[in-house]
Amino acid sequence: MHTHSRYAHRMVRFTVLASGSKGNCTVVTGGKTRILVDAGLSCRELFRRLRLAGEAPETLDAIIITHEHSDHVGGVAVTARKLGIPVYFTEGTHRAWMRWMAPRRQMTYAQWVEQCKQQAAARQTAADAATDDCECEDEAEVEEIAKPTNVAQISAASEPAATADGAVQEKPVKDPTWLPKVEYFKAGVAFKIGDISVSPFTIPHDATDPVGFVFEAEGVRMAVATDLGYMPPNVKAQLRLVDLLLLESNHDLEMLRDGPYPWSVKQRVLSRVGHLSNEATATYLKTEYDGQATYVILGHLSESNNLPELARITAERALSGRASLLANRLLLAAQHEALQPICF
Ligand SMILES: [Zn+2]
Ligand SMILES: [Zn+2]
Repeated sequence: MHTHSRYAHRMVRFTVLASGSKGNCTVVTGGKTRILVDAGLSCRELFRRLRLAGEAPETLDAIIITHEHSDHVGGVAVTARKLGIPVYFTEGTHRAWMRWMAPRRQMTYAQWVEQCKQQAAARQTAADAATDDCECEDEAEVEEIAKPTNVAQISAASEPAATADGAVQEKPVKDPTWLPKVEYFKAGVAFKIGDISVSPFTIPHDATDPVGFVFEAEGVRMAVATDLGYMPPNVKAQLRLVDLLLLESNHDLEMLRDGPYPWSVKQRVLSRVGHLSNEATATYLKTEYDGQATYVILGHLSESNNLPELARITAERALSGRASLLANRLLLAAQHEALQPICF
């Protein structure tokens, strides 16, 4: 099943498909397991980039989500349904995502628990029936339903419609939050997905329960740390002794200050639960980073308030004083195209 990939002979691989405020998505491969980290692209675009990167979408085993912002979850429902694979969330993030998908529903906690039970029962029924119906689901239609702005339309469509012979018939409506399988994890509690160990850790960001990850397969450790307002001690501790580090370098402080964002948004980005600036990332790289990673990838660059050359130069300067770091390769993840797969 995994032999479709051009890179099938390489056992550990890290491919950034997209990084930035318009969508985030990375594939981590270890042993026979392939995990999609976030699904912030449409399913169609995600599959296109996977194929361009030499990765077959059908071989993905799971999706794991950092937090519920749309640039990280925009394509999760359609992709998970299309592939029939589980989605790993923290419970808080799952709950927040369901609210985001249906913002007018105003669920109470009890209602939410009830909905989860019903969905679990529905999944069980689907599993028992063992049909492949998610394969023939029309993507365009699901994406249409999945947009929160169409909730009003969904409600309208669910009204009983009178048929020609006068009988009232309930029109079945797809639940936009339905997923083939949901798995919960907790920040600070490591677990395994197939051949890959996953260590989720809390990051400071304005979401319900945001996390970063360290993935480990065959002794190779790969960290994902984007969307964080500053570098707290627990994150610094997690990023020690990694072989690959995907680290946020979101904005240039001057560009943000003089840029087009309204004051309130600027304040949000700059806050302790916003995003790391080039300068903050450089400070970390210069003073606390242990220099152990073979690859440092700068990610989540703002298209309005940053320039790739600025982010690169700032990080290079920070690393330049450190002779032991000459072997480090500094890469930049992009919004509109995938990075070359990094193989170990
Ligand atoms: Zn983001
Ligand atoms: Zn975010």
